[in-house]
Amino acid sequence: MAPTKVLTGARVVLPTGTVDDGRVIVEGTRIAATAPDDAETADLSGHWLVPGFVDIHNHGGGGASFAGGTAEDVLKGVHAHRVHGTTTVVASAVTGDLDFLARHAGMLAELAQQGDIAGIHFEGPFISPCRKGAHDEQLLRDPDPAEVRKLLDAAHGQARMMTLATELPGGLDSVRLLVEHGVIAAVGHTDATYEQTVAAIDAGATVATHLFNAMPPLGHRAPGPITALLEDERVTVELINDGTHLHPAALQLAFHHAGAERVAFITDAMDAAGFGDGRYMLGPMEVEVADGVARLVEGGSIAGSTLTLDRAFKRAVTVDGLPVEDVVAAVSANPARLLGLDDRIGSLEPGKDADLVVLDAGFDLVGVMRRGEWVVDPQLG
Ligand SMILES: [Zn+2]
Repeated sequence: MAPTKVLTGARVVLPTGTVDDGRVIVEGTRIAATAPDDAETADLSGHWLVPGFVDIHNHGGGGASFAGGTAEDVLKGVHAHRVHGTTTVVASAVTGDLDFLARHAGMLAELAQQGDIAGIHFEGPFISPCRKGAHDEQLLRDPDPAEVRKLLDAAHGQARMMTLATELPGGLDSVRLLVEHGVIAAVGHTDATYEQTVAAIDAGATVATHLFNAMPPLGHRAPGPITALLEDERVTVELINDGTHLHPAALQLAFHHAGAERVAFITDAMDAAGFGDGRYMLGPMEVEVADGVARLVEGGSIAGSTLTLDRAFKRAVTVDGLPVEDVVAAVSANPARLLGLDDRIGSLEPGKDADLVVLDAGFDLVGVMRRGEWVVDPQLG
């Protein structure tokens, strides 16, 4: 077993607050409470030490897709995000033919069982043609509980979340079915009214899929899904903080109303994240990435992002002016809790997995540790 490592000198963000000149002890794959005498010391003075990031909505990266690729592609995408601090990732599928999705879920389930991904998120096909974003309209369908069930079965207990337009026929029954199976029901790609969204939350929906994006805007006579999702304490709202999907003021508004405990930063990344501009596929749809912004070749809809969570973190602190502790909650603690994994990940506490990220004083990522091993070695001495 590798020698115990003591990380010293950093400003450490703990669940109880930030500690200057903190100490985190890593023994094997876990965080420990005490260090033996022969422990190795790494001096992280002048840096921040925060929990590894948890991304619950991500379609790929590094030129590889979670939505259509092979197992090798998925692992490549996982690595592309891991070097940017995401130590836990849920793989998001996109709308596709039901049989294809079932087969693909089977492959993803194996990777989840091995611990490479933290499960599967189905985004579509049960979404609204009015708010389809980058999903193939031909393949959209109403949320039939029997078909929802088919996908859950194909995922062998590794389905974590499904995004639905809950206002469609079968929507509320599907929400109830998901909840019964311990799968998060997420409201998204929806054309629901305020009242319809309240009904979905009452039926058990607990996540807003990229709040603001792919849903009706907030109107004073038609407050819509945004208002319903923001005001209900049972709901966690996903936000894509890349500067393209949301105006900084919209992000502030969400934090203000939901509070830092109910926000989860996601990337909604596609293959180009951590890779570069060019032509890509998002499921069956062709996407052109220019200047880091992904758009459908046909119609020009925004098609996922090229974001990594380290950039979302830095932007939240340096551009949006959010407190570091709130940002840590949004990228680690809240999504870990949503997944029911907060006994193992999401904060720096003895007994939890040694998943952590080292940031420099300007909030650029310089180190990533996963399960006690450096994925990106900060090499600070
Ligand atoms: Zn997505």
